Amino acid sequence: MMTSRADLHTHSTFSDGVLSPTELIDLAYRRGVRIMALTDHDTIEGLPEAFATTARYPDLTLIPGVEISTDVPGSEVHVLGHFIDWQDQEFQRRLLHMRQSRLGRARKMVDKLAALGKPVSWERVQSLASEGAIGRPHIARALVEAGHIASVNEAFDLYLSRNGPAYVERERLTPAQVVEIIAAVNGLATLAHPRDLGQLEELLPQLMTAGLIGMEVYYQDYSPEEVERLRAVADRFALIPLGGSDYHGMGGPQQREPGDIPLPDEPVERLLALARERGAPQAL
Ligand code: AMP
Ligand code: ZN
Ligand code: FE
Ligand code: FE
Repeated sequence: MMTSRADLHTHSTFSDGVLSPTELIDLAYRRGVRIMALTDHDTIEGLPEAFATTARYPDLTLIPGVEISTDVPGSEVHVLGHFIDWQDQEFQRRLLHMRQSRLGRARKMVDKLAALGKPVSWERVQSLASEGAIGRPHIARALVEAGHIASVNEAFDLYLSRNGPAYVERERLTPAQVVEIIAAVNGLATLAHPRDLGQLEELLPQLMTAGLIGMEVYYQDYSPEEVERLRAVADRFALIPLGGSDYHGMGGPQQREPGDIPLPDEPVERLLALARERGAPQAL
């Protein structure tokens, strides 16, 4: 078993993960993770529970984080924010607005599925999302339960991916605007899972102008060759090569357990040093 000391990308029940923040942190700690970020989609609501849990683990550093997604022509761009000033009221209002728009979007996707002859109950989708930010994985799980398809991955492949027949776009925010939103609360912004972005090198200059400091290189099931290629891009743009498992607890062949990524200590130290320079309390 290979475990990195750090995992900078994880999800809990406060968005589309399966474990509560407490269960997630317990699991990561047991596996040897000592620096971890909770990066739920469009919400910081899991952080109070997460920070309460870390009281059990004096040698664990918890980084307050978030993941915000955007649609661009033909694909999606996701941005992580680490060491955000998560108690900022204006920031919380923005996230609340994003979560409300997720509700309308999910509802439209459920309508599209019904029109495609694959109905799922809206009540069931909402109850799978529970108190968390609703997203496509909740719809995917309802599709599996309804017997329309065999797995969450298949739901994405057939219906819910960016170019799938049941996909509905989110409200228009550009990737650069998302980086700015994160930077506005002293967050350190990292481009998430960039492997399949065709326009990666065209995108990076504008994101860096907006404040991007890192790019995920060590991610989930990325192969050594893919890591190598992305590492070279990060180096060329002087971005910190970061990464994480993106653990959701949903299974599937691409899933990696918390910390099960070849993320070296050195880039993590660079991230922590930057956070310290900016006075982030969790980095001191
Ligand atoms: P949403 O936030 O509603 O756009 O849903 C995005 C989430 O869906 C991602 O964070 C992943 O958890 C999940 N996801 C995206 N693509 C896939 C896929 N091909 N297979 C399984 N899960 C996916
Ligand atoms: Zn997710
Ligand atoms: Fe993502
Ligand atoms: Fe994620």
